[in-house]
Amino acid sequence: MPISATTSKTWRSRASAIAVEACALLVLIGCVAAVRSPDAQAPAAAAADKPVAPQVSNAADAASAGMVEIRSLVADMSMDIRYAGSDNFVGRPVDGYRAAGCYLHRDVAQALARVERELRPQGLRLHIYDCYRPVRAVRDFVRWAGDLSDQKTKSRYYPKLDKRVLLGDYISPSSGHSRGATLDLGLMESQAGGDRIADMGTGFDYFDERAHTDSPGITAAQRANRQRLRAAMQREGFENYPLEWWHYTYKPEPTPATAFDFPVE
Ligand SMILES: [Zn+2]
Repeated sequence: MPISATTSKTWRSRASAIAVEACALLVLIGCVAAVRSPDAQAPAAAAADKPVAPQVSNAADAASAGMVEIRSLVADMSMDIRYAGSDNFVGRPVDGYRAAGCYLHRDVAQALARVERELRPQGLRLHIYDCYRPVRAVRDFVRWAGDLSDQKTKSRYYPKLDKRVLLGDYISPSSGHSRGATLDLGLMESQAGGDRIADMGTGFDYFDERAHTDSPGITAAQRANRQRLRAAMQREGFENYPLEWWHYTYKPEPTPATAFDFPVE
């Protein structure tokens, strides 16, 4: 899911403490995901893996950031960029999304195009939900999470959770997506009547334990779809975040210490 603004060790420690407390008190499913969110990394993971607080680049557009739109490489890529519309957990277009585009660093986009080429002969295609995410979008998520009066997307995106646990648990003030090497995606299957979205067991951005890639709470067919996606992505250098079947990061990241804030347009 979600985010680089001004993350600090202090904030993360506090967020982790809050998340742990929430787990202890409420025994909520998904608390592990919360504490170990890819975007709000636990202190140990952050120390071992990523720079703590990426600098925000002043690049004003994709070209100056070294990113390309995926359709410049795969003209008919299947995409449903959720944050550009209203079918997302915020329930409206998110700040920074002026169009439905998928921008990634050039090397990352090229690797993704290879995955697509490898899948098509198998009757499969990629289906993209989000790619580069501006820092301002992440700040918009945080504002939304802080507004407890707005519960209109609860039934679709977080039916088993109290919105109060989302901030700090599922939504943090910085996201790997803002660095341009992370994307969210599923699969399309070719059918006689046309392509259809492959059943992955939950929808995109569904805040629940069943979204864990290896969750036992899904069918064999759903698990097989997740495994097909993971195998194809891993072959070209993408790593899945185990607590979200849709979230992948290209490693090594081209700009691990730099986030971006140009609008998606
Ligand atoms: Zn993601």
